[in-house]
Amino acid sequence: MVIKEYGCGDWKIVLELEVPKPDKKPITEDCDIIGIDLNVSNFLVDSEGREIRNLKNLLYNKYKRIKKEQKKLSKKEKGSNNWKKQKKRLAKAHKKLRDARRDFLHKLSRAYVDKYDVIAVEDLDSKNLSEGEGSVLNRHIANYAWNEFTSLVAYKASQAGEQVIEIRAKNTTKNCSNPGCSNKVDKELFDRVHECRECGLEIDRDLNAAINIVNRAISLVGQGLSEVKPLDTSTSAGTTLVPVSRVVEQGSPFQNP
Ligand SMILES: [Zn+2]
Repeated sequence: MVIKEYGCGDWKIVLELEVPKPDKKPITEDCDIIGIDLNVSNFLVDSEGREIRNLKNLLYNKYKRIKKEQKKLSKKEKGSNNWKKQKKRLAKAHKKLRDARRDFLHKLSRAYVDKYDVIAVEDLDSKNLSEGEGSVLNRHIANYAWNEFTSLVAYKASQAGEQVIEIRAKNTTKNCSNPGCSNKVDKELFDRVHECRECGLEIDRDLNAAINIVNRAISLVGQGLSEVKPLDTSTSAGTTLVPVSRVVEQGSPFQNP
């Protein structure tokens, strides 16, 4: 058992239980597989065209609160009673941010693990974390959140006997995702559309990456699974925006049946 004090008066008690891990379910042609591209400009795009962005909106006020409390703390005399009180307020503000982020990521990872049997993500160590547009705040949020999201997905999947396949990030953005087309399309950060001169495919840049991720996983482990074809995805060429609020309020990015 671990007991942790947050410095803001809140306590956390962690009970550790040994739960036997189920065996990994075999990958068969009936498995539902999804590829997920994590990027700075929109938190996540999956290979079926769902796009979750503006995580910043959910957390922005909480960041602002931290900055405010930090500023106030810097004006207090170090070690004084008021300084101690202010330090508590700052710790509370940090905790609120952490809790909101974790709540969102727990729900999101749970929904993907419940819906799919195999989840393919990029190996974050091989991904260029500076790639992508966005402010420092956006990058900061993204870096934290990606790591937390992928570790939550891995943990929940292993509890369910499901598999997470990590894919090297090399060229997932450049390569054309149309099966049979091996063209590489160089892109600037502001190029939001993948336009292939070889095969004529025009799709959202991040959707193209997510399809490359799922197809790499299929070529690695996908016994009998057929490759995902970009134009068979639900949205054809673009993505469908899923509001962060839907994940928070309904507990899932997927539309209720
Ligand atoms: Zn192509």
